[in-house]
Amino acid sequence: MSNSSADSGITTPATKVNLMGMGQARMEAFFEELGEKKFRATQMLKWIHQLGVTDFQQMSNVSKDLRNKLSELAEVRAPEVIQQLDSADGTRKFLIRVSGDNAVEAVFIPEGERGTLCVSSQVGCSLDCSFCATGKQGFNRDLTTAEIIGQVWIAARSFGQLQETPVRGARRVTNVVMMGMGEPLLNFDNVVESMNLMMHDNCYGISKRRVTLSTSGVVPALDRLGEHTDACLAISLHAPNDELRNQLVPINKKYPIAQLLASAKRYIDGLPDQRRKITIEYTLIDHLNDRPEHAFELAELLKDVPVKINLIPFNPFSLSNYKRVSNNAMRRFQTILIEAGYTTTIRTTRGDDIDAACGQLAGQVEDRTKRSARYKLDHQAFLDASNDVIPVKMVN
Ligand code: SAH
Ligand code: SF4
Repeated sequence: MSNSSADSGITTPATKVNLMGMGQARMEAFFEELGEKKFRATQMLKWIHQLGVTDFQQMSNVSKDLRNKLSELAEVRAPEVIQQLDSADGTRKFLIRVSGDNAVEAVFIPEGERGTLCVSSQVGCSLDCSFCATGKQGFNRDLTTAEIIGQVWIAARSFGQLQETPVRGARRVTNVVMMGMGEPLLNFDNVVESMNLMMHDNCYGISKRRVTLSTSGVVPALDRLGEHTDACLAISLHAPNDELRNQLVPINKKYPIAQLLASAKRYIDGLPDQRRKITIEYTLIDHLNDRPEHAFELAELLKDVPVKINLIPFNPFSLSNYKRVSNNAMRRFQTILIEAGYTTTIRTTRGDDIDAACGQLAGQVEDRTKRSARYKLDHQAFLDASNDVIPVKMVN
């Protein structure tokens, strides 16, 4: 589709191409189509992702003619930040508009020198894990590459990281985890292209040991992942056997634990760096999966897989009857795994005052699957019976 501008005679597209989300290969193809050399792609990636420049006229090493041509045809557009919330502990949450009333969340968590950004991959999620606020909202759509890498751009820029001389001593995005809203492997191409931009030397240059994809277990996509990226892998396991995992992570009925672990092991074995381990995420829920026998079973299950284990206390949200694990049960669980020889950490909850914890990311999802409506109906009795229930929290 194109418009013809009467005075200039130049044909311009009705919608400009957004260069924000283009990886190296697509960017090179774009410039070649314009009759330009490939090195223009490298220049453009640096302007956008290292210097945070979005106005072509400020790109001083690009000829005036090309700058004008780019202004006609293209744009560099990051998603819009609706709200930025800063927690007392340094956690920063961004509510990001992704069209109409829909919004997703990205969370920056500082820890000493390290700054981890938790990035979303979809508006909502179709997989409906029983303990996850995102899942309870249903699914709307996949995020574009510009919307995924745009979260990194927005956070890095908010700390003055994207400029010639970054602010000294300021926070930086040093790590990225694809653990925000959505299942990254169900938005495969856009997630892979975005992760590769995060690790690209001409962009953010984050080490492959510091970019992690987390999945609840979409095995066919995991089987293909190694052909496209060498980022770190986290598996959301949450249960030591299929019977329990089927209740918590419904996709387990399709791809049970044995298949998932075998696929994860193939991915890690295919990486050039043999030292890397799979992170096993295990959300501990009171009286459900937090018993010593679960810890012993987990230790046995993982004995032939190179893993480190990250225990996450369940973060409650309205509309969920699950309860947070007790500190005693959590310590007991950790001790059993450590004694069995596993590196086992407990993820501390951060950004409590701004609802920024794992599994609490809600954003705003106009649910195309109508799951949220069904879920609210199913839980009406529970809601009616409870005095202190707050409606689903939407951050405005
Ligand atoms: N869909 C992907 C990535 C997003 S979820 C996945 O499931 O791995 C990121 C992590 O948060 C997962 O390990 C998930 O299990 C965990 N999580 C979800 N809801 C949670 C909650 N209410 N409390 C604690 N952790 C939660
Ligand atoms: Fe989706 Fe992950 Fe939440 Fe499951 S835990 S519903 S896969 S976002």
